[in-house]
Amino acid sequence: MSKTRVYQLAKELDISSKELISKLEEYDVEVTNHMSTLEDDIIEIIKELYKSNEGKSESMDSTEDENAIGLPESISVKDFCDKIGKTVTDVMTKLVSMGVFATINQEIDFETAEALALEFNIDVKLEGAEEEEAEYGIEDFEDDPKDLKDRPPVITVMGHVDHGKTSLLDAIRETNVTAREAGGITQHIGASEVYVDGKKIVFLDTPGHEAFTSMRARGASLTDIAILVVAADDGVMPQTKEAINHAKAAGVPIIVAINKMDKPGSNPDRVKQELSEHGVLVEDWGGDTISVPVSALKGEGIDNLLEMIVLAAEMQELKANPNRLGAGVVIEAKLDKSRGPVATVLVQKGNLKVGDPIVAGASFGRVRAMINDKGKNIKKANPSTAVEILGLSDVPNAGDTFNAVKSDKLARQIGEKRKAKFREANLNSTTKVSLEDLFMHI
Ligand code: GDP
Ligand code: MG
Repeated sequence: MSKTRVYQLAKELDISSKELISKLEEYDVEVTNHMSTLEDDIIEIIKELYKSNEGKSESMDSTEDENAIGLPESISVKDFCDKIGKTVTDVMTKLVSMGVFATINQEIDFETAEALALEFNIDVKLEGAEEEEAEYGIEDFEDDPKDLKDRPPVITVMGHVDHGKTSLLDAIRETNVTAREAGGITQHIGASEVYVDGKKIVFLDTPGHEAFTSMRARGASLTDIAILVVAADDGVMPQTKEAINHAKAAGVPIIVAINKMDKPGSNPDRVKQELSEHGVLVEDWGGDTISVPVSALKGEGIDNLLEMIVLAAEMQELKANPNRLGAGVVIEAKLDKSRGPVATVLVQKGNLKVGDPIVAGASFGRVRAMINDKGKNIKKANPSTAVEILGLSDVPNAGDTFNAVKSDKLARQIGEKRKAKFREANLNSTTKVSLEDLFMHI
């Protein structure tokens, strides 16, 4: 969160910037110049904390907590007496009155010990509970460059209808079918991973156009490289131009796959010339855009295309910090009759684990299971991994960002706030539509 915003917020809440900064630290929010997708949510949560006075009382709680006596998860009655400074007789009498019959060497659990201590008006806390409390975070910080590790490239395929996008993705997947998987691979989620010389490449099945449009509205980028498929017998068409514009606006490099080279009427030179008219200069036209002739139908040129992708990706030096809470984008989502809301997400930074509390757009929950592109259940997903996740409360939208957070409570808080906001926005648009309807009928 930016310093200016912290200053404004502190002023609005009538607290010192110092107090606000320490509150932000509880959420693992750094005061830097970087903006994040969670910034608005954090501001709202903190505002609410202070409005309901919880913000202040919470810090009072923690001073009370400091006076509490720390106890282990299980303690003998004798040790308990020593810890709270009461006689064995007093403690045993109270225990009996609580219906617990124990000898002085017997262990009692923390819950019993806590109830017992309360009988004496003494505050106790579970030892090590402080660490747990600090786990109430969001992880909204900029990565230290030294924490960044190489990550695989994420690719989308774009191009005019019928130029061979789907066929090309199929051909790419087929080159990666190992003997073990003979009989073909079934496609399980909206993305697939292939390996070229041991290096992973992630392909998104979502037509690039949609991915770009929904992502651009949020100012985030989903892909590292766009494969522009142009049929050699058809050339640059309206959706080809659209794809070029999307990729350029997002600053994503293009690799051209000149497809259908097997067709009698194919004319790659014409394709290159038409591309140059739209600002895409391929290498043999003096530009720096790589172009590869392929036939998705015959599986020709695919290896060459994959190698070019690896090369282009290496030049980008793609990196992410794998050691933080997972965050990324929803690629697609649906309601499954038996499994409930199911979302395919792309992890862009950090790692996502089964059991993580998560918020995706306005939906929230806990990752109950993760399934990879081969249909296998996995426990952990690192940067540049597409996985299907189960456990969300609702179906999020494609293009929504997701974040793993440190507590279920926080996931719920953020999700419900966003939901209320969407509801409000929807209400407004419904009113507008019905008004328009009214006028149309007059
Ligand atoms: P999309 O709309 O861009 O996804 O295009 P498709 O992959 O569905 O392909 C459209 C049509 O072109 C299909 O009938 C394919 O079989 C055909 N097609 C795709 N690639 C090739 C190719 O390399 N050669 C030939 N001859 N036909 C192709
Ligand atoms: Mg298609």
